[in-house]
Amino acid sequence: MALIVQKYGGTSVGSIEKIKNVAKRVIRFFNEGNQMVVVLSAMAGQTDRLIQLAHQVCDDPDRRELDVLMTTGEQVSVALFSMAVKSMGYDACSLLGFQVKIFTDDFYGKARIHNIDTTRIREELSQNRIVAVAGFQGIDPHGNLTTLGRGGSDTTAVALAAALKADICEIYTDVDGVYTTDPNICPKARRLPQISYDEMLEMASLGAKVLEIRAVEFAKKYNVPLHVRSSFKEEEGTMVVAETKDMERVVVSGVTYNKNEARITVRKVPDRPGTAAKIFDPLFDAGIVVDMIVQNASTQDITDLTFTVSKPDFKKAMELVRNVAEEIGASEVIGDDNISKVSIVGVGMRNHAGIAHRMFDVLASENINILMISTSEIKISCVIEEKYTELAVRVLHDAFGLDEEPKEE
Ligand code: ADP
Ligand code: ASP
Ligand code: MG
Repeated sequence: MALIVQKYGGTSVGSIEKIKNVAKRVIRFFNEGNQMVVVLSAMAGQTDRLIQLAHQVCDDPDRRELDVLMTTGEQVSVALFSMAVKSMGYDACSLLGFQVKIFTDDFYGKARIHNIDTTRIREELSQNRIVAVAGFQGIDPHGNLTTLGRGGSDTTAVALAAALKADICEIYTDVDGVYTTDPNICPKARRLPQISYDEMLEMASLGAKVLEIRAVEFAKKYNVPLHVRSSFKEEEGTMVVAETKDMERVVVSGVTYNKNEARITVRKVPDRPGTAAKIFDPLFDAGIVVDMIVQNASTQDITDLTFTVSKPDFKKAMELVRNVAEEIGASEVIGDDNISKVSIVGVGMRNHAGIAHRMFDVLASENINILMISTSEIKISCVIEEKYTELAVRVLHDAFGLDEEPKEE
């Protein structure tokens, strides 16, 4: 008998029909003698709708209350799913984050899981019940509801799998695995039978939303075997594992994009010690993550500083930076949220020169202007105008031969 944690994303539970199908699938696994813990997301589009509602009330909704609102999406899914299971003659029990006791910090909207009490889930499993856990939510040390950040149901599933020492964690979604790039924008994308935690981590952090980054971090830390597969098909998907045999052979293993960033430029910043700290401290205090940072070479002790933040943080970041800009004597703050970041990823890049050059050439040949660049050992990212995203992804995918199976040596 195995203990299986399965997670079904928003599209997989997007209608009553789909919820019934998920119930049937879970029952099949249960009938094979497995203990089943099922993590569900809100029905497709529901979290976005809830956020829109909050913004109809005011521009900057209170973060605690926004979390109370957002957790309702997943509550609906687990209740409907458990009803479906029961109507099919099996026993099920829905549990919200606070009922399980998924303890998090108090960072509303981006809370981190600290620990999970597995007592209640184990009790329910021992009663032969299918346990449905609401994804994306937890409870802080003061008893307030929290959410884990967009896409956070993946994290709930992997964290539960680690805490329960489950045999496998399966992520069911609307694609049948992890591809060389988003198959919805690049028809030539190729499904990877396996991917390493490190490459998946890099792809997730650069925008491949098929897995949420913290979920991959958890999986790597606790060595949770992860299987990404389709809710609508039976075939195997992609295994995320510690190492793969292709890893070092393939130079570029994937292309990612992220349209969820915005760029802020502080012009004519006096170039003296402490100014960068003055600009970034308030952002840090507000929990705003700064991604790329570029400072121009200074002329006459004046410089421009450009950086990116996520789109939902853009307005707040502009406000905070405008305040300090005045204080430090910078001339102006310019914002641009029509950008996107395209990246190529691969651990094999470590041992190869000229990859960046090739990437820039490919973008130039399509007349795509590069606004910012950042590199690490295993990735190169370029910020470009948002409207060129799909084109950039496709030409890079072609140029690095990602549609072809890697050749055996
Ligand atoms: P869920 O609601 O099940 O959590 P998501 O929408 O969060 O699903 O993630 C699945 C989506 O991730 C796919 O529909 C696909 O468009 C996108 N995606 C982006 N990059 C990749 C990739 N490299 N491989 C597979 N899917 C990807
Ligand atoms: N419902 C949440 C979201 O849309 C969490 C998730 O789906 O993983 O971000
Ligand atoms: Mg997701």
